[in-house]
Amino acid sequence: MTDHTNVISLRSGSDAARGLGRDIGRYVAVTMDIPWQVTADRLGKPPEQVIFVETVEEAWLEERLRNLPPCDTILGIGGGQAIDAAKYLAWRKGLRLVSIPTILSVNAFATPAAGIRRNHEVAYVGTASPDPLVIDYGILRTAPPELNIAGIGDLLSIHTASFDWTHAHTQGRSEYPFDPAAIAGGRRILDTLYRQLPQIRDNSDEGLMAIVEGYLDLNRICLGIGHFRIEEGSEHYLFYELEERLQRPFVHGYIIGMGILLMSRLQGNDEAGIREVMQEAGLPHHPDILGISRPDLKASLLALRSFVARRSHLWHTCINDIPITEAWADEALDGLRFG
Ligand SMILES: [Zn+2]
Repeated sequence: MTDHTNVISLRSGSDAARGLGRDIGRYVAVTMDIPWQVTADRLGKPPEQVIFVETVEEAWLEERLRNLPPCDTILGIGGGQAIDAAKYLAWRKGLRLVSIPTILSVNAFATPAAGIRRNHEVAYVGTASPDPLVIDYGILRTAPPELNIAGIGDLLSIHTASFDWTHAHTQGRSEYPFDPAAIAGGRRILDTLYRQLPQIRDNSDEGLMAIVEGYLDLNRICLGIGHFRIEEGSEHYLFYELEERLQRPFVHGYIIGMGILLMSRLQGNDEAGIREVMQEAGLPHHPDILGISRPDLKASLLALRSFVARRSHLWHTCINDIPITEAWADEALDGLRFG
């Protein structure tokens, strides 16, 4: 059976990056200031070159490619952009990729395509798999703990997204063949995660690895069936609406957490249970921390159905079938904290 994980090998431990530079041949480090500061001394052997990622614009990356010294390995060190840039360079040159995520708030380290920008538009290109993916707990704990916790946002979204897919299927509106095994696999990811909530809150070794393994398991399922419908649904669509409305970035895991809470309420899908999960894990999910005002969030909720209706590429979810009334929105927002 094909194993659809994107990771070829995994090296983990409280000091897993120690001496790594001696094991990967001639390498170029692709990183940013802070990730490089916390990692450089541990690697044992210096790189041929350090590329500090300023942007993931394709033209900028191609320029770096032209000036790349001879090397065997691209070593990505950092969060989203550094890892994506490393994936891109490794893919374009056919070089070995090694990744050291220094924060778990974004899951670029676990996905095969490189998220770059082509004339300022987001594009996912190529495919590169780390060998190894290095999970160094000591390095990860140099990041703010709640930003590592934010990594569970895109795992907890299985709670609402799988509900959406099941709902679409019963309405005869699923865009893909319905796959109960994928739904059950998602359920197992949640159940496993729920057993580790205090450890996740503490950023302990076990807690950090639970987040990483959740992503690897999710990829096994989703790359296997060719889409992420068990993990992406109405909770993400509320985020897309807010992003377009407010035109600024958010910590992904926080805003997805808020979306999960609101959409699970709309779905009648154990809102209380998922709220408890987020509290126990310490995932910030209230509008106050996101800087979203009550009037903005209410307007977003009321506009949500027409927002998704205007975008034919968005999947069928509870938003299409369960009306969001003003009274519903008022009551739902009473349960949230605003700044
Ligand atoms: Zn997401």
